[in-house]
Amino acid sequence: MSLEMRANCERCGAATPADGEAWICSYECTWCRGCRDSCAGICPNCGGDLTRRPTRIEEAQGDA
Ligand SMILES: [Zn+2]
Ligand SMILES: [Zn+2]
Repeated sequence: MSLEMRANCERCGAATPADGEAWICSYECTWCRGCRDSCAGICPNCGGDLTRRPTRIEEAQGDA
């Protein structure tokens, strides 16, 4: 399963570089750390769970 990655936080517009910290919700919203913390892990747009976006290194190492 591969989600479309956006380059900016859905909420505040902060850049979320591919090798930096970011979270995505079940419906592919992208979130920075600050916004993810402020919404307690649940996407306020969709109600979907926010999950840590894997870095490029992690993607290369495993497909679990
Ligand atoms: Zn943000
Ligand atoms: Zn969402």
